[in-house]
Amino acid sequence: MSYTQIIGQNRPKDIIRRAIEHNRLPHAYLFSGPDGVGKQAMAIELAKAIFCRSEGEKPCDTCDNCRRVAHFSHPDFIFIFPMPKSAEVEEERQVLDSMVQEPYARLQPWAAPGISIERIRELRRVSSLKPLEGHRVVIIAEAEKMTTEAANALLKILEEPPPAMHLILTTSRVNALLPTILSRCQEVDFHLLSDAEIIAALEERRQIPADRAQLLARIAQGSYTRALALLDEDLQARRDLAVEALRICLRDDLTQLEWIETVTAELDKREIRDLITLMLIWFRDVLLLFEKPDGFSSDQLVNVDKLDVLEKFTQAFGDIRFDSIFSELERAIELLDRNVQVNLILIVLLARLQESLIIKGSIT
Ligand SMILES: [Zn+2]
Repeated sequence: MSYTQIIGQNRPKDIIRRAIEHNRLPHAYLFSGPDGVGKQAMAIELAKAIFCRSEGEKPCDTCDNCRRVAHFSHPDFIFIFPMPKSAEVEEERQVLDSMVQEPYARLQPWAAPGISIERIRELRRVSSLKPLEGHRVVIIAEAEKMTTEAANALLKILEEPPPAMHLILTTSRVNALLPTILSRCQEVDFHLLSDAEIIAALEERRQIPADRAQLLARIAQGSYTRALALLDEDLQARRDLAVEALRICLRDDLTQLEWIETVTAELDKREIRDLITLMLIWFRDVLLLFEKPDGFSSDQLVNVDKLDVLEKFTQAFGDIRFDSIFSELERAIELLDRNVQVNLILIVLLARLQESLIIKGSIT
């Protein structure tokens, strides 16, 4: 069986299998879809399949070429990802090594790296040379992070692709790519993984017990990469903090500001993002309880082990404007991703949440 490294994503697998079988690979693929669902892992599998020497199903995962691709040591295989211009070769190697270990979790050692014009110029230079083994495969991960100059340089390659070259771009933000690049790539859509797929992967690959795998999958919201990152975190403490944030949003301005100051000093941006995601998940549970206090089944709840706190929370409010709460939380996550100042996002978020929660009694 090929593509065993890839969790779910049957449609992309079929598309790629067929293209390989019929020898109809496009010059350029664009793997699009949410973060953490296997786009880069699939791009690596496709690179293996292109170089694979097996007579049977490709990639075989055992031939010399499959192994060299998996270890990023095949001379005609280039993997480009966002990194600062100042990055050392050893640092780049460390990132690649992290993907050898776990293709779903690339190490991200830099704050906001991009893909520079120099990388793409180098690619243009290399692509004018003949590959050593018939093909050249180039993956550009997070392609939306190319600078404008880099994107224009890539466009030149796409306009006149060298015959032996296969380009695979991956992105979670299709709209951030130049339309002229999009129109030259064949797009393959990746979707969020199901809870069942994530649970099975956590159990089989990481030997995570079923109940913990279930909680992780629900919090990870369709992203296996998120689930892996959550393995290292103290979920209990995170959730407590999310509930605390909801208590704080009901207090006065000064208390809110003090709390925001403490939280932003302790947590980095990514952890704040998790915190807001946990608040979002919390409100999904609250919505379920609010709408059907007796008629829900507990396996629909994510925070099922916190049912008593959830119930108290739900009963404290005469009304909860869920629409505005969900849109404010989603907006906060979006603003975080756009690098808006964290303090400002939280100040506005807590104020808006307060407006949307109509109190009946105390929630403690
Ligand atoms: Zn092989």
